[in-house]
Amino acid sequence: MQSWQQHLAESVEEILFDEETLAKRVKELAKEITADYQQLNISELVIIGILRGSVLFMSDLIRHIDLPVTIDFMAVSSYTKGTRSSGTVRILKDINESIQDKHVMIVEDIVDTGLTLQCLRELLCARQPKSLRICTLLDKPLRRRVEVPVDYVGFQIEDKFVIGYGLDYNDHYRQLPYIGVLKPEIYA
Ligand code: 5GP
Repeated sequence: MQSWQQHLAESVEEILFDEETLAKRVKELAKEITADYQQLNISELVIIGILRGSVLFMSDLIRHIDLPVTIDFMAVSSYTKGTRSSGTVRILKDINESIQDKHVMIVEDIVDTGLTLQCLRELLCARQPKSLRICTLLDKPLRRRVEVPVDYVGFQIEDKFVIGYGLDYNDHYRQLPYIGVLKPEIYA
């Protein structure tokens, strides 16, 4: 009988980054982040994961960051159903702790139009963190509609809708251990 993972894999047109490639790049990013913040001699780095897509990336990333890290989460909704941005960002869940005077890094799964991060950045900057950086696993520069400073990028990708390693299509496929391109006929 076909396993559920095999069933999900049938919707994948192409694997962009397999488990090994993801693990290697995530470790590299964590090393870079560690080295950068070590220079600032910080006592705490608050990592804010944007639910739900960044959860797998964030949990792998923080395991390799050699700094005093605390974590918090925000949930935003920028997409209705389907694969294109609705252009509006709703805050569904806010962080639990104050970030005033703290070094903060947002961890996102993917930057597409940039609208989500622009909104989040403005919102969090207003709370006066000591510093605010952004780390994203994936970046689709060709789709950008607003400029957002992104400090750490795992991979740049073309304008294709991707799933897996936390990224969903209609809430499925997050459990795929790799990142793949969703077959267009699935969302056509
Ligand atoms: P933006 O506001 O930058 O347009 O969109 C950011 C959000 O859109 C991401 O956090 C993610 O939830 C969603 N998104 C954008 N592109 C993709 C994609 O290729 N695959 C998936 N699964 N989500 C995407």
